[in-house]
Order: sequence, then C-alpha cells, then structure tokens
Amino acid sequence: MGTSRWRGLVASGPRRPQAFTQDTAQVLAVDKKIKQLRYLPGGQGNGEMEPGVTWRGHVAQGMLLCPAPDCGLPFGRVVAGGARRHHFAHRPGEGEHDAVTGPETLWHLSAKDVLGLWAASHPNLADWTLHLDDTPITLPNGWRRPDVLAVSPDGAQVAFEVQYSALTGTDWKTRHDFYAKAGVVDIWLFAHHGPQWRPATPRQRRRRELVWRDADWAAPVQLSGLHQTMLRHGVVPLWLDPTAQMIGTATTRAHPANTSPVERLWEGSSYTLPPRRTYPACHVAADALQQCEVDLEAGELLTPARREQREEHQRLTVDEQAVKDRAARREERLQAEWDQHKRQEQERRDAEIAAAEAREQIPLREQFPPLFRPQEPPPAVKPPWWKPWQHRA
Ligand SMILES: [Zn+2]
Repeated sequence: MGTSRWRGLVASGPRRPQAFTQDTAQVLAVDKKIKQLRYLPGGQGNGEMEPGVTWRGHVAQGMLLCPAPDCGLPFGRVVAGGARRHHFAHRPGEGEHDAVTGPETLWHLSAKDVLGLWAASHPNLADWTLHLDDTPITLPNGWRRPDVLAVSPDGAQVAFEVQYSALTGTDWKTRHDFYAKAGVVDIWLFAHHGPQWRPATPRQRRRRELVWRDADWAAPVQLSGLHQTMLRHGVVPLWLDPTAQMIGTATTRAHPANTSPVERLWEGSSYTLPPRRTYPACHVAADALQQCEVDLEAGELLTPARREQREEHQRLTVDEQAVKDRAARREERLQAEWDQHKRQEQERRDAEIAAAEAREQIPLREQFPPLFRPQEPPPAVKPPWWKPWQHRA
C-alpha cells in the first residue's frame, strides 16, 4: 500500500475505472440448470461461462433466466460489443418490467444478490450464515429487517443495508443507534445511481481536497447531508456497484491545515484521508468487492481504500508528532542561545566594573593615552605648479 500514494504521479493520464459509470446493465441471471445466480464478468460476453459452454450458447438454449421479480423469462441475447458493458437483454417486446419496477428495485435485487455471492465465496466468511431479507432483529421498542444479515459462527451479527432512495441523516442515525443497541454491526451501501449518487459540480471539482487525483478513483460525487451526518459519527460512506462488483469508498487527498504553499507542491505533504464532515464533495475509490472484508472490531466494511486511509492517518499522526518535536527542539536551541548570550553579557559587565575599579588607582595620562598624545606639526603642503607665487611671500 505504501506505493499507492505515487499512483497519481506515475499514471500516464486520467483513467476512469470501469466502475461507478452509472451503468445499470443486467449482468446477473439465474441458471435454470443449477438454480443459482450467474455473474457475467465485464468484457466476457463472447467468452465461455464454463469450459465448453459459451454465454451465448447458454442463452440461446434459454437456460439463463431474468432474476427480476414477476419476470423470470429467459434472456434473449447477450449484448457484447460496442461501448456499453456486456450484459443480458430480453427479446424485443419482452421484459418491460424496467418501466414498472424501476431501477430502484432492480438495483436493490442485484445488490443483494451480489452481496450474497460475495459472502458465499469470501474465504473469511466461509462459516458464516447468510439471511437475505428474512430475519428481523427485534428490540423491546421495535424491530428492523436488514437487507442482508450475516451471522458468524460465534454469533456476531452484521447487517447490510443497501440504500437507493433518499434518506435523512436523522433517520439514518435512528437506525444506526437501533443496530448499535442490538449489538449488530451495520454496514450501509449506497447506490451508484439515483439520489445517493450526485456527480460533483465543476465548482466543487476545483476544491483543494479534490485536486490530487488517483488513477484508481472514480469521478467526484457530492456528499449529501446524510453522508455528512455519517462522517460526523465516524462512518465513512460506501457505494456499491453491483454491475462491476465494486465497492466505492469516500476519499479525499488533503493537506493538513498548516501546510505552506511551497510544501503543497510536494506529493508527500498530502494525505489520502476520509472526507471531513464539512466537505461538499469527495472522490470515490473503487475496489473489488472480493478484496473487502468485515472488520468486526471497527464495525465497518474494510475496503483496501479504508485500509490505506488508516495507514495514511497513522502517517499523518507520526508526521505531526515529528513537526511538534522539531518545534520543541528549535525552542530548546533558542533558549540555550539566549542563556549563553545573557551569561556573556553578565561576564562583560563584570569585567567592565572590575576595570573601572582598577582605573581609580591609575594616573589619567595612562587611562586615556590618545588624549595625551603630543601635538605633531601639520604636514607641509606642496602648492600646485601653476600657483608658485602664493607661497613665495
Ligand atoms: Zn426480466
């Protein structure tokens, strides 16, 4: 991770990752044969699903079904080629559910499916039990049903809330407190399109903390009041792109407040940190969901970007301590110099007093020899050669 802060410098140009492009392509399908979800990786539409079985062939046989509720029709074709990400599509005239259920329902479903696939295949979550939308958590004053609930072998509970629609900071705090009271770790994942994903305005993009740009960071997004409330409570907002199976972490590249303009030119003087709660926008660092794990102690989803932020925070703490130590050493040196100056001044004064006391016994002619120097005649001035008569008289 140590090299990552140089990524922005060595990258040949702005390269946007193939995630968080607001693409809503359908990349999940239910395999009729094994009754399980299949994920179409990016750029693989013309490739093989399994050795000997192509995606196109499997679709042509009508074996891949649409996972949308109230649909379940077999997909008609694989769209591969062109600018868009490879995805499944219905035959013309079929699957008009997009208009009925809207992107929210589809995103919600694929988000939960992708989280399920991730938890089932992650080595650290191998023994965990997964509940999709079926286990309510109850407290004396109410109950909540998380979108995905993961339960560890020793009983630790992690609730995943996938949030597409708008939510106020107060509502989020109520739910966050509910989970905290129930002893459940809650992880919030926002949609990569819709109300939770607002691209930053050109004015916000010019802000200081957004200038340093990592090649692996997606476009800057606005931090809503909800996101700022989360940051105030120490929760870093995360986004989920189920199409690319990526998690985005709110990130900024910021200088400490006391950095001088000259120091700011030096890459090492800025730090990759979570946004401050007052920032109106942040970058989104994209990481593969497969590389993320649950940190029960900190109560968050530990993405590689979050790990880097923690390391950078430590680096900042160490650097700030070094600055403080340097200032303290300088203060000490100045104090020592001042003490020495005062000592020398005292010695000089003592010597002067001693000399004055000694002078009282010495005759004046010896005390002030220059004043008693015998008068010498002024030197003879030679007249200029054209006025010899002036001095003849
Ligand atoms: Zn469908």
